[in-house]
Amino acid sequence: MMRCGKGSATAIGICHHRLREGLIGVNCESCNSETRPNKVRKQHWHQGKRYIVENVDAEVCTECGERYYHATTLDAIDKLLAGDHAVKEVLSVEVVCV
Ligand SMILES: [Zn+2]
Repeated sequence: MMRCGKGSATAIGICHHRLREGLIGVNCESCNSETRPNKVRKQHWHQGKRYIVENVDAEVCTECGERYYHATTLDAIDKLLAGDHAVKEVLSVEVVCV
């Protein structure tokens, strides 16, 4: 499983919170501000492979930008990636250590 929290932020600032069922619209766990539904570009790991998935439904904090994903959204992405799917673009990524 992916770790979650400030220490695991990626190059594009995605956190891997999983929303519990029915919790869409709750306040941000980091700063307690309001979240709003939005479409985002998400880094997603599936069976040891990293994907960038566009047009993903998320709840985004209006204050700090933290993203929250509904469990059913993440399951739908896993299902999509497990089967035949169109690939829009293939990226190579630099991995650095600080
Ligand atoms: Zn926040």
